Amino acid sequence: MPDDWDEHDDIAAGSSCPMPNCGELAVAYRSTDGVERDHSEPWEFTCPRCGIDFTVPEDELIFQSVPSKWLLAGVQAA
Ligand SMILES: [Zn+2]
Repeated sequence: MPDDWDEHDDIAAGSSCPMPNCGELAVAYRSTDGVERDHSEPWEFTCPRCGIDFTVPEDELIFQSVPSKWLLAGVQAA
């Protein structure tokens, strides 16, 4: 996992590749700069192994990390 994701107020999320015989972990980043966070918008991933693009609903992500200030604000309860 890159160690610079939290320096730009980005949210990081991960999901596994849906392709058979792959299942590689893909990580995506989403900036929080000046945008309302839309929980209904699926995350877009690009598999680092086979290169396909796929989307995953937020509630089906393997993990999601947010900057500490989001945690302090109680936005992310998990
Ligand atoms: Zn893949």
